Amino acid sequence: MNSYKILMIEDETNICNFMKMIFETNGYQILFANNGKDGKTMFFSHCPDLVILDLGLPDIDGLEIIKDIREKSEAPIIVLSARTDEHDKVEALDLGANDYVTKPFGTDELLARVRVTIRNNRFQGIGRSARGEFRLDDMVIEYDARRIIISGKEIKLTQTEYNIVELLSIYAGKVLTYAEIIKKIWGYSDFGSIKKLQVNMANIRKKFGEKPGEYRYIFNELGVGYRMNDNEKW
Ligand code: CA
Repeated sequence: MNSYKILMIEDETNICNFMKMIFETNGYQILFANNGKDGKTMFFSHCPDLVILDLGLPDIDGLEIIKDIREKSEAPIIVLSARTDEHDKVEALDLGANDYVTKPFGTDELLARVRVTIRNNRFQGIGRSARGEFRLDDMVIEYDARRIIISGKEIKLTQTEYNIVELLSIYAGKVLTYAEIIKKIWGYSDFGSIKKLQVNMANIRKKFGEKPGEYRYIFNELGVGYRMNDNEKW
């Protein structure tokens, strides 16, 4: 049993009714607002642990709500977005949303995202650094030695390739946008940076023995960025 309080800002009553049941069954407290204005008021009066925000609201653009919340609060925000809105997803993440789920979504996926986001958010402020090791299936990352081992065999990566994998592993389960990754790896972003990142990723996948459509360690979030698998199943 957990006691996390979630605020869902969503105008579709069907989704709200269904989510009420799902989240309460899983031990969460859930509050609803069916428009942006009420959502903002409720956010500031109830101080939820996490916000699930539909980007397509009848009154206020969801992106505006992210801006308003981020001016005053670091509370995690998961955005609900339509399948085709890659641009909105990137903008939402760049404005400070923590993650997104694409509509129509499965409840297991949303619950997994909520768990990961709440867990990741607890590390905030401590400052993230890679310590010890990271394990995912048959892969081990030894942070001190900067070594990656898959099925007992060391994978030889370049410094940049290693840095990319290490970064994604520190945020495992969270999508990182191309711009975020590029800034953290190269310190700057210019024309052609995405291409450079994609070339590095292709090399990483080759060395990891991953084939398109069968990615196990690092997932493509089309048009948005990359996400390291977090062992969360849905
Ligand atoms: Ca909507």
